[in-house]
Amino acid sequence: MATSLQRESRPVPAGPFRRVLLKLSGEALSGERDYGIAQERVEALASEIAGVHAEGLELALVVGGGNIMRGLEAAAAGMDRATADYAGMLASVLNSLTVQDALERRGAQTRIQSAITVAEVAEPYIRRRAVRHLEKGRIVIFAAGTGNPFFTTDTAAALRALEIGAQVILMAKNEVDGVYDGDPNADPKAVFLPELTHLEAIERGLKVMDTTALSLCMDNHLPIHVFALTDGNIRRVVGGERVGTIISTPTETGAST
Ligand code: UDP
Repeated sequence: MATSLQRESRPVPAGPFRRVLLKLSGEALSGERDYGIAQERVEALASEIAGVHAEGLELALVVGGGNIMRGLEAAAAGMDRATADYAGMLASVLNSLTVQDALERRGAQTRIQSAITVAEVAEPYIRRRAVRHLEKGRIVIFAAGTGNPFFTTDTAAALRALEIGAQVILMAKNEVDGVYDGDPNADPKAVFLPELTHLEAIERGLKVMDTTALSLCMDNHLPIHVFALTDGNIRRVVGGERVGTIISTPTETGAST
């Protein structure tokens, strides 16, 4: 009873979305730096996320770890791949704690749920509990990816978004403002793609998220909005403004999801 009252007491979001999953790559936290966490970047991000959340959105985050550790790169340098991947997952936990701290200093209530056990600092991942947190107006931060080596936090974003019934995945990118048919930072002729299907992204090998994550979204008709992580963009996207690239797959009835 108390919990349903709490939910009702939150404002109804003005935009088209009620529940979204926002994927923040590790790089989103490193700002201009090559490695690690730029605290001023985290503070700015947290202000925007807490502000959007306060307007009634049910918000889950998946936080990456690539600003600290990427399994594939460490393995290429000689490290055991699975060990490197676990280290990458721990990097995601570290980033998640940083984001949590910044959000809570702005008055947001949050819970971290980790896919690997770190009981002193985060809850274990329990789907129904995560949904309850969202209903109670808490931001849920999913840490440690899927908990499995050889996966990425993009796949975790797709998986968790489906599990919690998010309407959309928001992919906030550090260096691009959407999807291009090439790398716009290397090829000035790369063409911006405002809309495409999941299958096109997979077949053309476009660098949106990894193929496992994309195919999971395709099979389950989960749309992805890809946009630049510039100030105000998260707010614009959740408010329904047309920003960046939308990846979706038309249903048999013709509706795009
Ligand atoms: N990782 C993993 N399994 C997962 C998620 C992440 O093994 O389910 C490891 C992997 O080594 C990856 C690293 O954690 O390189 C950091 O995650 P990711 O590269 O997805 O972070 P992002 O690029 O979003 O910062």
